[in-house]
Amino acid sequence: MLPRRLALVTAPQAGEAFGSWPDRMAWFNRCPPGVMAELFGLGLRGPSADLRPRTFGVRANDAVCDAVYAAADVTALATERMHLTVFDQGPLVLSEVLAAGDTAARATAGSGWVEVYGSRTCPLCLLSSGGVWPLWWKLACAGVCPVHEVVLLDRCPSCRCVLRWGGMRPRVLSNASRRAPMSCASMVGRRPCPQWLPMVRARSAPPGVAGLQQRWLEIACGRVRPVLGGVEVSRAEWFAAYRACVVLVRLGLPGVLGRLRGAPAWWRRVLMGEREVRGLSRARFGWGPASAEAATVFLAVVMPVLEAANARELGQCLMPLVRAAADAGGLGAKPLSQVAVPAVFARAVATQMPVNRRMPSPW
Ligand SMILES: [Zn+2]
Ligand SMILES: [Zn+2]
Repeated sequence: MLPRRLALVTAPQAGEAFGSWPDRMAWFNRCPPGVMAELFGLGLRGPSADLRPRTFGVRANDAVCDAVYAAADVTALATERMHLTVFDQGPLVLSEVLAAGDTAARATAGSGWVEVYGSRTCPLCLLSSGGVWPLWWKLACAGVCPVHEVVLLDRCPSCRCVLRWGGMRPRVLSNASRRAPMSCASMVGRRPCPQWLPMVRARSAPPGVAGLQQRWLEIACGRVRPVLGGVEVSRAEWFAAYRACVVLVRLGLPGVLGRLRGAPAWWRRVLMGEREVRGLSRARFGWGPASAEAATVFLAVVMPVLEAANARELGQCLMPLVRAAADAGGLGAKPLSQVAVPAVFARAVATQMPVNRRMPSPW
């Protein structure tokens, strides 16, 4: 069979999510995104009508890469870069994302630290890019746009659906209706939501957090080798330490906020609200931030800890987190046993364990 070539091909943009690209191309070609995906030969039939194949947008296989190359002349490497595999052993662990399976994948930014179906967004970026949805907006720790310094949107303000889910439940790309890359277009009832996302006013980010998100992204994208407590560590180890800090903060609520110098009052509202969402079972303490707002607070709390200049300073920065979690009795269940932190981090935690008390190790 001769390879297919589509007439009106739009090039994928650097850092664009795989789901975003056929969406844009479908819009330019005036057809529903599901039809575009069929033309690509992407085979999007999932296990049930409202589920995509588990690996759609997560991991590119040879069949997907071959189909995309034949249809659009986009190389396998470029196709792979649009998939969540680029963040494996960093801000997410691919085996966890795949193991989360069909049910957990429906939960927003859940156990896999990523929103497999939906995405957060910066309305100003959407406007300036013409509707490109970057891949990193799917990560649970995506809180702030480093360019426009606004808190990302999680949900559409009109229909309250998670953006890009497609409706109240995640859907495969629609074969029936077109979806403007800059609009919400979630199916509410039988109609696509008309909310034009660049019109939504995003809240300004708290001072300094845009810079923290930028440095977090540099490490997530592998552009910077992470250093922790003055020691070079791997990307996987740095993100394990980040997760461990998030768990410690959640375990220590609300007492930890009193121990953090200069913690603004809204952190309490956001983190206690987030704990309610996540705290139904202790197992969920290890899940990713449930909203962009929660991700923003975690950046503000955790990044200064991980940027400590040396091991002693790292211990001092960890003190309020470890002590509050210990006071709340949260360490007994060994909450960090699944988190493979580097030795420098484990030692720094150990130095802050309260003395003269029978205190179990968090590992
Ligand atoms: Zn932006
Ligand atoms: Zn909407």
